[in-house]
Amino acid sequence: MNVGLFGTNGRMGRVLIEALNNSEQATLRAATVRDDSPWINMNVGELAGIPGQTLTCTPVSKLSPDHVDVMIDFTLPVVFEDNIRWCITHKKPVVIGTTGLSPAQVALLDEAAQHIPLVFAANYSVGVNLMLSLVRQAASALDDDTDIEIIEAHHRYKQDAPSGTALAIGEAIAGELGRDLSDCGVFSREGKMPARDQKQIGFATVRGGDIVGEHTALFADLGERLEITHKASSRLTFAKGAVRAAKWVQNKAPGRYDMINVLGLPR
Ligand code: NAD
Repeated sequence: MNVGLFGTNGRMGRVLIEALNNSEQATLRAATVRDDSPWINMNVGELAGIPGQTLTCTPVSKLSPDHVDVMIDFTLPVVFEDNIRWCITHKKPVVIGTTGLSPAQVALLDEAAQHIPLVFAANYSVGVNLMLSLVRQAASALDDDTDIEIIEAHHRYKQDAPSGTALAIGEAIAGELGRDLSDCGVFSREGKMPARDQKQIGFATVRGGDIVGEHTALFADLGERLEITHKASSRLTFAKGAVRAAKWVQNKAPGRYDMINVLGLPR
């Protein structure tokens, strides 16, 4: 399987080069960077610290569909539309990791899914996707008056909050409880306020240093509390999951899939 990358020089792009280099079934064949990037024509091995590579970085506007079976996109929302339209035009399956998409951009995902197979997941780690199953199980077993809070921590450079994964955890729990996260989600608290409403799902965000990604779902009742926590210690876990998703999606029918589909986990 020949893979093309959007955002090759990003933090995720660099570990994707490493994950593809480690994969026996996937080969990196196109590595794109911004049209004004200083990395144009540079060897991808320099980005990932892997010697012996021959591929060089291409400006994204010069990306050729030849010899690419699947694209992987971990960039920023500002460039998402260009990337997905390129995939639709050239009928290329795509794995999308970019988070912080607007509602209009999420609608574009569904439009794209009518033409190409795509995987979109807020988190490509196997552990986090297992966590989505576990929080649903916890929500269905606990009393309806349990307080639910989602706490997430990421590195200082992260540009969206709460994280896409925290929102996915909140949506999994809300869906299990028959609630709508846009009604019951509480994203900030400050100053004097009434006692907590048990129907709320609260979010707290921490940003600092080089934290790769930590998520806790806290279920607190009177007398006990349950915490389900996932901690990523390396971005390689997301990159390995994305390469696994690329292998899975390459021959699928057009549609929108996620990591639960890729891993075959129960919903
Ligand atoms: P980053 O800032 O290091 O990299 C962003 C990349 O986007 C860079 O390569 C940059 O050149 C490219 N880019 C930005 N603007 C562009 C433009 N106008 N044209 C072309 N390219 C442009 O960010 P990162 O830490 O690598 O994260 C990338 C995305 O992946 C973020 O949305 C992040 O939240 C998300 N992410 C998702 C997962 C997951 O498992 N789904 C895991 C980690 C990060």
